[in-house]
Amino acid sequence: SKEKSGTYHHFFKSEMSDWSMESIYLENALYKALENDELSLHYQPQVDSKTNRIIGAEALLRWNHPTRGMVSPIEFIPVAEETGLIVPIGKWVLLNACKQLKKLHAQGNSNMSVSVNLSGRQFEEDDLIPMIESILVETGIAPEFLHIELTENQIFKNTHVTLEKMREIKALGIKIAVDDFGTGYSSLGYLKNFPIDTLKIDRSFMFDILTDKDNAAITSTIITLAQNLNLNVIAEGVETAEQLEFLMAKNCFNIQGYYYSKPLPVEALENYIDILTPK
Ligand code: C2E
Ligand code: CA
Ligand code: CA
Ligand code: CA
Repeated sequence: SKEKSGTYHHFFKSEMSDWSMESIYLENALYKALENDELSLHYQPQVDSKTNRIIGAEALLRWNHPTRGMVSPIEFIPVAEETGLIVPIGKWVLLNACKQLKKLHAQGNSNMSVSVNLSGRQFEEDDLIPMIESILVETGIAPEFLHIELTENQIFKNTHVTLEKMREIKALGIKIAVDDFGTGYSSLGYLKNFPIDTLKIDRSFMFDILTDKDNAAITSTIITLAQNLNLNVIAEGVETAEQLEFLMAKNCFNIQGYYYSKPLPVEALENYIDILTPK
């Protein structure tokens, strides 16, 4: 999970010899992170490549540890899930992403959506739906601009409970996207019965898409599947013009990836929007 900037530290490879000690350290530090304002959200633009207009942004958690610097969500989300800390953290993410969306709409970007990742662990909470509802009321956003991202593996960990809550989320007017589509272990049949709006093509399939026949075939098939089922499709991890051309030739125009932008702090996101959408 080493970022190109090289600023991410690796908790599990530090001087502390014992993995479990490291894990206990991380758990305690994460408790304090929420209280001490060490968490923030970065937003990665999602762009319509036909018009070059921003259509939305995915909220991605960042943890700036006081001595260790930026810690990757790939390292701390699993700890947050195991300890249950993902519940208060996930609520904080949703509230702040909705507040940010409200602000973006007030700034005139009234068609932008914000995507928020929900953990399967949050679906085990009885008050998930009332929690989401109260955030919708508190922030006053139009629900159709809030997109919830769930991976297939999260959906199928506790299928009946999750499906019921997905239907309630959908009934609130919120959109649901399947994240990392194509990497789970589920059959495709669920796409018929589950309240899904969008498939996000996993970024692993973008690798060598011009020369890797398997990745090209999988990506094309997901796009066609989405089109035939009347679902939206977003390609993630698009880094090069060649990948973009491939996708556009298949009529996939919703793009998220370094080709357009890395995840950005709020002010940088607002500048990025102004550059794409001069007023
Ligand atoms: P994800 O939901 O699949 O998010 C997309 C990840 O791909 C992000 O990593 C993003 O920075 C990265 N990415 C996007 N475009 C490109 C590209 O063109 N090239 C490359 N190499 N990478 C790209 P990030 O921010 O490190 O997040 C990692 C994972 O952590 C997320 O994967 C998600 O599973 C989890 N995560 C992040 N924020 C949250 C959150 O608020 N709640 C929960 N439950 N999970 C989160
Ligand atoms: Ca995601
Ligand atoms: Ca993803
Ligand atoms: Ca602006």
